[in-house]
Amino acid sequence: MPDILRRINTNKVIDLTRELVRIPSENPPGNENKISEFIKEQLTKIGIPTKILEFSKRRPSVIGIISNDNKSKSLIFNGHTDTVPVGDYSLWKHEPYEANIEGGRIYGRGASDMKGGLAAMLIAAEALIETGVNGRLVLEFVADEEVTGYGTKDLLERGYKAEYAIIGEPTELKVQIAHKGVMNLRFIVKGKSAHASMPQTGVNAICKASKLCLTLQDLQTQLSNQRHPLLGEPTLNVGVIKGGVKSNVVPDYCELIVERRLIPGETKTQALHEVDKVLNKLHNGDPSFNANYEVLHYAEPSETPLESSLVKVARECVKEVTGSDFGASGFPATCDMRFFVNQGRIPSIILGPGSLHQAHAADEYIEIDQVVKAAQIYTLIALKLLT
Ligand SMILES: [Zn+2]
Repeated sequence: MPDILRRINTNKVIDLTRELVRIPSENPPGNENKISEFIKEQLTKIGIPTKILEFSKRRPSVIGIISNDNKSKSLIFNGHTDTVPVGDYSLWKHEPYEANIEGGRIYGRGASDMKGGLAAMLIAAEALIETGVNGRLVLEFVADEEVTGYGTKDLLERGYKAEYAIIGEPTELKVQIAHKGVMNLRFIVKGKSAHASMPQTGVNAICKASKLCLTLQDLQTQLSNQRHPLLGEPTLNVGVIKGGVKSNVVPDYCELIVERRLIPGETKTQALHEVDKVLNKLHNGDPSFNANYEVLHYAEPSETPLESSLVKVARECVKEVTGSDFGASGFPATCDMRFFVNQGRIPSIILGPGSLHQAHAADEYIEIDQVVKAAQIYTLIALKLLT
């Protein structure tokens, strides 16, 4: 084991992860003040110049930079400080903000997603600063990944860039080089209300929306002809349907909320074009069909080439620490990698401790051993890339 890795002390990793879990930072509503202050203190303590930058009022991200030479190699470590809310408290056996330890795991909201990852990045930064590192390491602890991603976007727009970026989302220490995008759509189907004893005088919006559901299902079948080698097929899901007032009223309104997951290579324009085609087809076949939609949320997919030096170095470092080469895989959810790749043109990977199965779940936990290993992996990657 390289000498520098001996500086990564398990007890320190445990203490820091627990401290981070104990600071609630739920989003919504979006409350990253306390955790940002805490991270700033940690960085200052280890001698890293640090700034707090807000993308809007009281929505702070923390940035710390270790820089010996602006002209040499550069790398970003990026992690989000917000978590999803606790959710149904009655489903938790462990208190969500006590960070209890049991069976080598730390329990609590955000343990896997992604306070374990933040702890690993902070511990790696400390090891690197103690031994000295060449180049420029930018540490970003950003607000608001769980809702919009404005934290990371804001730092990019302020000009914080590097040759490579690592996003510490939970991947069970696997190097992940692609992730899906997501688009949420609200369809509004309009009809004409009437007395249910004379339904022929109205237009039933629920029945029209049902046609729309079935046609969207056909679209889902067509989508499954496409395939990304790491992420599989694009998908579409009708998740919500709302409409109707009473059994004796022909409903004049029905709403659908649909989620479309995109694979790298697909664009928003294409995805919307498919939806337009569905609506046109229904309208052409039935003049009383009246529907439109709005995009509620969109986050694009992104991908880094397998041949990127970042991917190669990261896989070597994972192998050195864990003894296994897991190859390069895909991250099924969305994450802030899209900003680095699509807007910043920065080759990026997702690599962190913890599991996506734990993320957002009741009794979320992280394996302590994985946080220690992640800190070691981050340290090695920085050493290799920044020299
Ligand atoms: Zn996350």
